Amino acid sequence: MVVRRAVNDGECLPLAEHLRGSGLVLRFIEFMDAGRHNGWRRDEVLPSAKLRARIAARWPLLPLPATRAGETAERWRYMDGAGEIGFISSVSQAFCGDCTRARLTADGHLYTCLFGATGHDLRPLLRGAHGSETLLRERLADIWTQRSDAYSEQRERLSVIRIERADMHVLGG
Ligand code: SF4
Repeated sequence: MVVRRAVNDGECLPLAEHLRGSGLVLRFIEFMDAGRHNGWRRDEVLPSAKLRARIAARWPLLPLPATRAGETAERWRYMDGAGEIGFISSVSQAFCGDCTRARLTADGHLYTCLFGATGHDLRPLLRGAHGSETLLRERLADIWTQRSDAYSEQRERLSVIRIERADMHVLGG
């Protein structure tokens, strides 16, 4: 659930109550400036820590360990055994350092950040016209090891807002 302060944050506790004990894991994600058309405003971001405190005041929570490197959600469990709940703090506690997210668009461009303005054109390599799978692997490794994406950290630390970026439907969600 994307949480937007004063727009839908009043629905968070009812939704948590509804899903507690269901076996489904509810995950809240902070409202992000993804794409160019969602009307993002910093003052509409409800930090996960505040939301978690609201929920924990009603149903005490205990932290769970990450299941893998680069996991985006902080995992918690209800102390009363009603299951797990997660929080993705992509604005208030950016996790660019552990980021493993690359996206390949339908037209063969690789983006190394969800907030990237341009991608790397892999079409020739994907079509095999100029190489092999080995070359593709090498190209991917080159791109990934040379990337320096840290948009979310810069947004918070330096108040940098990048205007030019691909829309989420282009990146695949
Ligand atoms: S802003 Fe970019 S580099 Fe940072 S976590 Fe998101 S996708 Fe990864």
